[in-house]
Amino acid sequence: MTHNLKTIGPVPVNTPALVGNERAYLDECIDTGWISSEGPFVREFEDAFAARVGRKYGVAVSSGTAALQVAVAALDIGPGDEVIMPTFTIISCAAAVVRAGAKCVLIDSDPATWNMDVSQIEAKITPQTRAIMAVHTYGLPVDMNPVLELAKKHNLNIIEDAAEAHGLTCRGKPCGSFGDLSIFSFYPNKLVTTGEGGMVVTDDRALAEKCQSLRNLCFQRERRFVHEQLGWNFRMTNLQAAVGKAQLEQMDRFIEQKRRMGRRYTELLAGTAGLQLPLKQTEYAENIYWVYGLMLGDEIPFDAAEAMRRLGEYKIGTRPFFWPMHDQPVFQKMGLFASERYPIAEKLAKRGFYVPGGLSLTDDQIDHVAKCLKTILK
Ligand SMILES: *Cc1c(COP(=O)(O)O)cnc(C)c1O
Repeated sequence: MTHNLKTIGPVPVNTPALVGNERAYLDECIDTGWISSEGPFVREFEDAFAARVGRKYGVAVSSGTAALQVAVAALDIGPGDEVIMPTFTIISCAAAVVRAGAKCVLIDSDPATWNMDVSQIEAKITPQTRAIMAVHTYGLPVDMNPVLELAKKHNLNIIEDAAEAHGLTCRGKPCGSFGDLSIFSFYPNKLVTTGEGGMVVTDDRALAEKCQSLRNLCFQRERRFVHEQLGWNFRMTNLQAAVGKAQLEQMDRFIEQKRRMGRRYTELLAGTAGLQLPLKQTEYAENIYWVYGLMLGDEIPFDAAEAMRRLGEYKIGTRPFFWPMHDQPVFQKMGLFASERYPIAEKLAKRGFYVPGGLSLTDDQIDHVAKCLKTILK
């Protein structure tokens, strides 16, 4: 039995599906010579993607991380300002705020949804608070109603990190439609990929123009090489946007496929002793299963690192959950978050991991992963 499981080929944690017009549009780039950010696919992709999440403007950039930096800078967040965000997230969120010279104020996770526990936000609002960064995590959204109410009540901006939330909705509204500025990533494990890439979306024309300027070194129209502000070269190439346009055409199918994979894992794993599965839904959202995350229960005598090592013996690719911001050596060396504790996030980090879930995954591979998981937990 064990021998059989081990003879099945590797199951990578993610393989993207480049099965639409990607090649045709890339050929068009090469045939026309338009490969830089000046090419026509960039604008087309920006417009189509922004429309897809119900926003007026899209500003394509070179990564989701870049999009967060641009968003923080566009809102003029800097020294003396505080930004409330989850501790359980990717470093890009905190790095954007720390690099801007502002302070990250961290919030623990909700143990059921793994998102920021919105009930803890208000107690952390001070006169210095400028923004709330809401990060939709692993396939379920942050409950945006309380976040929107708090932002209105305390006159705060919302930066929405929807990097993992293409196609996800919260109370029927698309994720990416809630922030003053909302951001997406198009890294290959994201639902829509451009290889590397990201986007800031907004309904505010002035903010959109600021983002366009910041991604393009803050060149000026009149006197190009005279700068009033520091920006970055975070431009997206026409090649990336060509892939993005083709990916976007397939988005509905990708969403359906992720949900089908999530349901299959859940059917196969339901009732497995010691495994906490992702919630199928909450009162305000249906899981899109961007990744299929698992938490080891207290009855399992080892942690996620050991579970991942054991799955590795079956050549099954996995990834650990985020490591919380307050426990990051880089921030501790900077004297940040000293002696802060967020028990739920710490537990997620030690006990959580995710299994293969790329858009090229087959039903047979899912069945195999589920079998191996049950075997290693026995
Ligand atoms: C992937 C991701 C990012 C960063 O995107 P990159 O394109 O990899 O820079 C930011 N936030 C979240 C929540 C992500 O999952």
